[in-house]
Amino acid sequence: MKILVSKETEAGELRVAAVPDTVKKLIGLGHDVIIETDAGVAAGFPDSAFEAEGASIAPAGLGDSLGEGDILFCVRRPNEALISGLKDGAVVIGLLDPFSAKDALAPYNAKKIAALAMEFTPRITRAQSMDALSSQSNLAGYRAVIEAAALYGRAMPMMMTAAGTVAPAKAFVMGAGVAGLQAIATARRLGAVVSATDVRPAAKEQVASLGAKFIAVEDEEFKAAETAGGYAKQMSDEYQAKQAELTASHIAKQDIVVTTALIPGRPAPKLISKEMVESMSPGAVIVDMAAANGGNCELTKPGEVVDIGGVRIAGFTNLPARLPADASALYAKNLLNFLPLITGEDGQLVLDTDDEIVAAMVLTQNGETVSDRVQ
Ligand code: NAD
Repeated sequence: MKILVSKETEAGELRVAAVPDTVKKLIGLGHDVIIETDAGVAAGFPDSAFEAEGASIAPAGLGDSLGEGDILFCVRRPNEALISGLKDGAVVIGLLDPFSAKDALAPYNAKKIAALAMEFTPRITRAQSMDALSSQSNLAGYRAVIEAAALYGRAMPMMMTAAGTVAPAKAFVMGAGVAGLQAIATARRLGAVVSATDVRPAAKEQVASLGAKFIAVEDEEFKAAETAGGYAKQMSDEYQAKQAELTASHIAKQDIVVTTALIPGRPAPKLISKEMVESMSPGAVIVDMAAANGGNCELTKPGEVVDIGGVRIAGFTNLPARLPADASALYAKNLLNFLPLITGEDGQLVLDTDDEIVAAMVLTQNGETVSDRVQ
């Protein structure tokens, strides 16, 4: 097959959907790989590194190769011009932001292009190596703590020096999924005293196993808060009020708060009110990892670091892109691992929706939007 890799066009998107290592493996599998010029530069992979592994480099916009590709690998949803230039029946695989993709899917259907959303990779054992949400969230959780440490005007670990003792930072992680658990582990490694909360009971043991204290309203609703897919349910207003009451006094004492709480397909739950921010000491830092989904903090401004009475709230909207080399390498590996599921024995494209992983990820096929999760 001819596999195309485009250069990302969204502002601040530094990742790329293939790295030299995955190109080598794709070519080893018998595919041709065509990389748009400079696609990997921002992530530290120049055209020459791809060429060295056997890829061809196409001009900006992919030139004549665009209409010849069987599959387009991308990170974010490509622009319409790129989709319109693909051949009929091609496949596009990327982080297509499926929950809000409805209107963006018309050009795919016009050309009978199959759009596959990496976000919809099911959370089953067989799909773990393809799970891009996990690979990216893990890096993002790490990076969130690094950003917090850089914004925080004090040291994270306890330091006993001849000139006096520096107290360890107190860090609180809200949402202990993939990103949150990595944030806990990173904050612990940096020497902070860490606590965490989540609405899913399974998170309790995981938080404790990382040496952090678990804080949550553990009522009947909490015991039933996990969906079959492992995600959190939207909690009732009553639960959220109890949760806010419990966490308010805790947040007031924290130096660093990292929020990661998400509910698939919905705006992020608001966990930190203006009053809670005002209760924190000047110098404290909040990194709101849910900023792109509306934020977990009422005062978060997506894409900005705001200062509220000395408390800084960072609303980075694309933390994985702040580690573009590793984020690209892991994402590219997720795509490589997925490819066999849509490759027939003769090495040609087969979109087999009898496979539950493929079926979950397909948004459009044969000119129709087939996923009922697209809104
Ligand atoms: P996510 O990014 O959707 O959400 C982040 C966290 O926020 C979740 O832990 C969620 O429970 C929590 N949350 C939601 N509302 C909250 C609230 N009001 N207060 C506090 N926390 C709140 O989650 P994720 O990182 O994608 O992980 C979800 C689950 O899926 C986890 O249990 C994870 O271990 C599991 N998972 C399984 C696999 C697999 O292959 N089996 C792969 C990846 C993740």
